[in-house]
Amino acid sequence: MENSLNDLNYIEDNLKKVFSDIKEAENACGRKEGSVKLVAVSKFHPAECVIRAVEAGQFLFGENRVQEALSKFTQIKESLSNEKVTEGKNISLQIIGKLQSNKVKKACLIADTISSVDSIDLIKDINRHCETLNKKMEILLELHTGEDTKSGFAEEKELFKALEYLAGGNAPYVSPSGFMTMAPFTDDEKIIRSSFITLRESLEKANAEFPELKLSELSMGMSSDYKIAIQEGSTQVRIGTAIFGQRLYT
Ligand SMILES: *Cc1c(COP(=O)(O)O)cnc(C)c1O
Repeated sequence: MENSLNDLNYIEDNLKKVFSDIKEAENACGRKEGSVKLVAVSKFHPAECVIRAVEAGQFLFGENRVQEALSKFTQIKESLSNEKVTEGKNISLQIIGKLQSNKVKKACLIADTISSVDSIDLIKDINRHCETLNKKMEILLELHTGEDTKSGFAEEKELFKALEYLAGGNAPYVSPSGFMTMAPFTDDEKIIRSSFITLRESLEKANAEFPELKLSELSMGMSSDYKIAIQEGSTQVRIGTAIFGQRLYT
């Protein structure tokens, strides 16, 4: 561990490569440069690695475990609070992993966006905690489109019930901005692409049915499949390994 922390220059190199690959992918399919945001997924990587990424110009991060995110990002924000690099800019955090109901309160404290919302009950919980905090929470609704762990709403129908709930003004502290999905872990490009198309078409349908929600975000694409996701309309890619390297699961 000591060695790998001493030399973190690979993070800046990897980030530059990912920035330019995203730009290239946008150009290749005729999309505007800058239309795809990068969420740098820092789960299992220490605060030092995130700080190095911030110094290299990355401000948006994703974490999938709330406790880890809370201690890590509290530390990061403290150590960067007087640094020039964050002047006028905010470090922004997305929770991207399945959220247990006993973790919602902490998630509402630390996160700017919760992108793995998969039930109306969770929306109610987030709304309740955010009302106490007097904070508006951006959320993405996650649709299961074939990935193995079955995270997200299992059916589009259920997801649309949640949209109806939100459109009815029942959760004023929750602001839905779009959808999220994970493609199946496979080398079969056709299966991956079809998962992204499902999400895009679902968002189009949602905007036709609930135009007042003005949903615009499609969070899809990870290290192995983000170029396909960009071709299919992704507006934010969630990339961990290609920036921070392999994760050490301990
Ligand atoms: C870990 C994770 C990612 C990033 O995966 P990589 O393959 O490392 O890029 C993206 N999305 C979610 C939901 C994750 O849990």
